[in-house]
Amino acid sequence: MVRRSGRGTPATAELGGHATNTASPPAEKPGQERQVPMGEETVGSGLQGGEGGGGAAELDAAGRGADLEISVKMDPRVLECSVCFEPLRPPIYQCEVGHAVCFICRGKLCNTCHICSRGIGNCRCFALEQVVDTIKMACSNADLGCDKMITYYLKENHEISCMYAPCFCPEDGCSFKGSTGSLLNHFVAKHEWSQTKFQYNKALRISVKRHSRFKLFVGEDMSMFLLVNIFTHIGNALTLICIRPHECGSSYSSMISAVHGAEEDRGRYVFQMDPHVTSSSLNGGVQLGKFFLMVPPYLVDESTDEVTINLRIDMKSSASSCH
Ligand SMILES: [Zn+2]
Ligand SMILES: [Zn+2]
Ligand SMILES: [Zn+2]
Ligand SMILES: [Zn+2]
Repeated sequence: MVRRSGRGTPATAELGGHATNTASPPAEKPGQERQVPMGEETVGSGLQGGEGGGGAAELDAAGRGADLEISVKMDPRVLECSVCFEPLRPPIYQCEVGHAVCFICRGKLCNTCHICSRGIGNCRCFALEQVVDTIKMACSNADLGCDKMITYYLKENHEISCMYAPCFCPEDGCSFKGSTGSLLNHFVAKHEWSQTKFQYNKALRISVKRHSRFKLFVGEDMSMFLLVNIFTHIGNALTLICIRPHECGSSYSSMISAVHGAEEDRGRYVFQMDPHVTSSSLNGGVQLGKFFLMVPPYLVDESTDEVTINLRIDMKSSASSCH
C-alpha cells in the first residue's frame, strides 16, 4: 500500500492531511457541473526550463509556473480512498460530515460512513475532485527520458505502458537496467556482444556456438531481439525474445530452423515457427517461454561446435500505440 512518493513535487506548501478528518458541514452543491480542465496527459507541463536531464527537475525552479501552477509537497495518503487505498478519482463521494470515499467503496458501504457511521448519500466531494483532477506528477521513468506529466490517479495506468520503462541486462551478475537504447549500448560496450542487423521478412543464416547463451539481433527499426540458447543434455533449446518494456506497437512472428552443416546430412533439420514472438523487459532474467526449438546434438557441427540456423523474423502489424 505504500505509494512511491512523487517526484516533481518539491516543497513550497504543506497540504497535510486535513482533507479527511475535518468535520465540516456538507457544502457541495448538488447538480452543479464541475468545470475542471480535464486531466489528460500533458507533455512538459508548460513550465519553463523544460529539459535539462529528467523531467522531474522541470518543476523544481520556483514552484510557480507562468500559468499559475504551483508545486506542493503533500502526504499522498490524502489522495487515497480511506477504505481501499486506491488513488481517488471522480466521482468522489462524502458522508454528511465530509469523509471522502471512492465511488466503488461507496457502493460497498451500504450508505454508512466507515469512520463516523453517518450516512453517505449522493453527496459528491467536488472540491477534492478538483484537486485530484489537477494534480500532475512526473512519470517514474522521468530519469529514463519520459517527459509526461500525468494526472495523479492515472499515473499507474500510464506507467503500465510507458515506453521508457526499463529493460534489464540478462547476463549473470549484471544488474544494469535502462531504456532499450542504453541497454543496446550496454550490451556492446560492457559485454562486447556483437549485434547482427537484419531485415524483416528475410531469412538469415547464422552460426551459434553450442555454449553461447545469447545472440543479439537488431531490426531496421532498432527493435532488439535476443536469441536465447540454452544447452541441455538432450540438445540446445533456442527461443527468440523481443526486448522491450511492454507488449505494444508492432508484433512479430519468427521462423527458426537448424540444419546440419555436412552436405550428406542436408535433409536433416528441425524447424519451428512462433506466430507471436514474446516481448520481455528481461526483468527476472530470460525464460524459455511456450515456443522454442529443440536442436538435437547430432545437428551440432562437432568440428566447429556450432549450430547453423536459419532465422527469419516477420513484422506482423502495428497494434495499439503506447503512451
Ligand atoms: Zn475506495
Ligand atoms: Zn463520515
Ligand atoms: Zn512515462
Ligand atoms: Zn550487463
